[in-house]
Amino acid sequence: MTYRVTLIPGDGIGPEVTTAALKVAEATGVAFEWEVVEAGEKAIKRSGNPLPDGVLESIRKNRIALKGPITTPIGSGFRSVNVALRQQLDLYASVRPARAIAGEGTRFPETDLIVVREATEGLYSGVEHWVDREHTAAETVNIITRKASDRICKFAFELARRQRRKHVTAVHKANIMKTTGALFQTAFREMAPKYPDLLADERLIDNMCMQLAKKPEDYDVLVTTNLFGDILSDLAAGLAGGLGVAPGALYGEDLAVFEPVHGSAPKYAGLDKADPVAEILCVELLLRHLGEAEAADRVFRAVWETIAEKRVVTYDLALPGYTLRPVPPSSCSAMAAEIARKVPIVDLDRPLPRPAASPPEPDTHLEA
Ligand code: NAD
Repeated sequence: MTYRVTLIPGDGIGPEVTTAALKVAEATGVAFEWEVVEAGEKAIKRSGNPLPDGVLESIRKNRIALKGPITTPIGSGFRSVNVALRQQLDLYASVRPARAIAGEGTRFPETDLIVVREATEGLYSGVEHWVDREHTAAETVNIITRKASDRICKFAFELARRQRRKHVTAVHKANIMKTTGALFQTAFREMAPKYPDLLADERLIDNMCMQLAKKPEDYDVLVTTNLFGDILSDLAAGLAGGLGVAPGALYGEDLAVFEPVHGSAPKYAGLDKADPVAEILCVELLLRHLGEAEAADRVFRAVWETIAEKRVVTYDLALPGYTLRPVPPSSCSAMAAEIARKVPIVDLDRPLPRPAASPPEPDTHLEA
């Protein structure tokens, strides 16, 4: 069977990391037909529209897409293509797993979190305006509805159960945001008793950030509103090894779009330098969504082993690590080729390897 999937290469490093991801997808032997459509800067140049109708039509038709990051100009100009895509296709659940891979590139090797973020409303609703003609005051409206809060809380509990997770934490600011925060909190509190097999608790967003920075291993699945989820998923990505290794998925009722947490990193565009792992792990999530579990396991293990070996890794993982010594950085394409080479030959029955510990530094203090 051949899967037809929409492919949006995106801006900046997007074309490089999506090319890398396609190479790894090909190595799995699963047959794909990629329908390539352009959104973002290339689409603006071609048609003046950063999100042409053809992009939405292609995703609606294929019901599944792999996407690279898309640049959003800050301040005036176009509204975010990413936000528009989520709203127009009602991709309401943004799922961002943050798992430390091989314990490398992180101070928190036990991190294994999933951030579930409501992706269609909140402070991203696009309802904002200047209050006065002089532009000395402005308002952005935080829209929270019971319907969207119920469905994201339900999504988080269902995902936790499916993935044999144990603990779901709602993150909000209901002490200060007495209407919007409390509405989300109530939706969570009324959903939790339907899942008695899962531990359910709550944290205020500020406390949550502090708790994650101290002991991320205490948390499992976090569910939250749009802006808090955006910030928390970058924080979780940092705990797990950085934006270069953080994949993501957007789910609607019957659509799914897979995209990394990172943006288009314009300063690295065209340099063949960016870490391809986040986009490659999007392919892993896409394969799981399609029910291709063995191919997904192979991709994950090939990524894990490549990082554990720390022989062919990009600059972000080649830096002085916490478990291994620094190595010369490899290119995006070289790392992707190494992962693709491993995909068909990895042994899925072996325990996941941990990197060999660095030899201890000589203790010059004692010698002195
Ligand atoms: P960014 O994620 O693009 O980059 C921040 C920094 O993270 C980079 O400078 C780089 O040091 C590092 N980084 C990111 N991806 C990396 C990778 N694959 N390998 C190695 N290092 C990596 O964030 P930004 O600079 O704030 O945003 C740039 C543009 O991307 C903006 O226009 C923003 O709106 C857009 N953006 C798009 C998406 C999306 O398409 N879903 C998400 C976030 C940001």
